[in-house]
Amino acid sequence: MNDKTNKHRIVIVGGGAGGLELATRLGRKLGRRGRADITLVDASRTHIWKPLLHEVAAGTFDSYENQLEYLAQGAKNGFHFRLGRMEGLDREKKEIQVAPTYSSDGEEIIPQRTFGYDTLVIAVGSVSNDFGIPGVKQHCLFLDTKTQAEQFQTRLLESYIHAHAQNRPLELSQLDVVIAGGGATGIELAAQLHKVSRLFRAYGLETITPNAIQISIVEAAERILPGLPERLSQATHAELNRLGIDVITGQRVTEVTDQGVRTDSDQFIPAAIRVWAAGIKAPDFLQDIAGLETNRGNQLVVRPTLQTTRDDAIFALGDCAACPWPEKDSLVPPRAQAAHQQASHLYRVLQQRLNGEPLSEYHYRDYGSLVSLGRYSTVGNLMGNLTGSVMVEGFIARMVYLSLYKLHQLALFGFYRTTMLSISHLFRASVHPEIKLH
Ligand SMILES: Cc1cc2nc3c(=O)[nH]c(=O)nc-3n(C[C@H](O)[C@H](O)[C@H](O)COP(=O)(O)OP(=O)(O)OC[C@H]3O[C@@H](n4cnc5c(N)ncnc54)[C@H](O)[C@@H]3O)c2cc1C
Repeated sequence: MNDKTNKHRIVIVGGGAGGLELATRLGRKLGRRGRADITLVDASRTHIWKPLLHEVAAGTFDSYENQLEYLAQGAKNGFHFRLGRMEGLDREKKEIQVAPTYSSDGEEIIPQRTFGYDTLVIAVGSVSNDFGIPGVKQHCLFLDTKTQAEQFQTRLLESYIHAHAQNRPLELSQLDVVIAGGGATGIELAAQLHKVSRLFRAYGLETITPNAIQISIVEAAERILPGLPERLSQATHAELNRLGIDVITGQRVTEVTDQGVRTDSDQFIPAAIRVWAAGIKAPDFLQDIAGLETNRGNQLVVRPTLQTTRDDAIFALGDCAACPWPEKDSLVPPRAQAAHQQASHLYRVLQQRLNGEPLSEYHYRDYGSLVSLGRYSTVGNLMGNLTGSVMVEGFIARMVYLSLYKLHQLALFGFYRTTMLSISHLFRASVHPEIKLH
């Protein structure tokens, strides 16, 4: 309880696809009405929906214009926002420890702090897993955070401008990109980069010809998109080849250098830009944190109520939660739709907890997976209760793909503001270039 107000304290760590929706909805329902004290802690000041990061990286989505300010969101929706990175947990004292925050000059602006809770929700997402492969950390770009995606965009833009201005022919692989990982993230990024390389030429960097840029994807499994039905993976493979993107399957990256990546069959793919999108894990600080049960990927093991197995007051959701999916005898996959569903579930469960009622169990509903190749095509499978799995492509697939983001915006802004945002987005799109050029 908050000593001053005697209110139940709910602390949510991580304001991403799941955590921010939960904080917003609980803030409106409980925080505003004074029924509980809701606090959101995030390592960043602003939020951007993670599935858009490959578009931020390619420059087709302006993160600056589309980001959400946590402080303002909290003020409007009845929760407190506290900036900082969680680094520890004391289950006895029911406190989380948050690391100091530094300015861009390295000056400490917020000291180390602790926040007490009665209920804690950990929603810190995931980070790339380099599996200890030599050179990945040093020589690859990642798409875990907005900052990384923005750095990627700057690097890409600068390399094109530099190549255009140089008074000597392009060097071999000077603009080439290799992406490790043929899952949805790697493929969507490749398609966006392909589109962008064409747009730069259209915007006047005419030395950047399609032949000057080779984009390659390296996937360890025998086919790309191993989680999707084979037909879709084949159709996507063919579409990527049609775009001139080189797809190499059945080869594992064993080393990355500042010149390119090497695979287990000793093939070397030279590239100036190397991207790692080949697997994720929950952040390292969660590993065995305060005696909670975690798995090999650092995920907190949770029960169907989303409570951690060893502490009833601590819940986890989204990518950092190892949540059982009994129908498939596996874990709920790390996807935005799972984080969204779990946030909606916890919205109800935390009210049940406050009222002393039994907690409902969460059941993952798989609505299918969609992969967007930007303007070229969107493919995927949708799951229906009666129809089973249906493969979709083209316009319908694109609409369903976009609807996931709209659901996120609806949870954060409500119907009216989401509609206004969509309209303003259309207006902006009609006057701004298709890519960010600064
Ligand atoms: C490029 C890309 C494309 C994707 N495309 C899709 C897609 O098309 N469909 C789909 O379903 N999924 C997609 N995903 C996966 C999807 O983004 C994640 O499954 C989803 O965002 C997980 O939500 P989350 O709430 O668990 O975590 P996140 O959305 O990652 O949010 C985690 C939050 O925690 C904060 N945080 C992290 N560590 C700390 C800490 N120690 N202390 C405080 N705060 C912390 C972060 O700043 C962040 O705000 C994609 C992912 C990427 C990278």
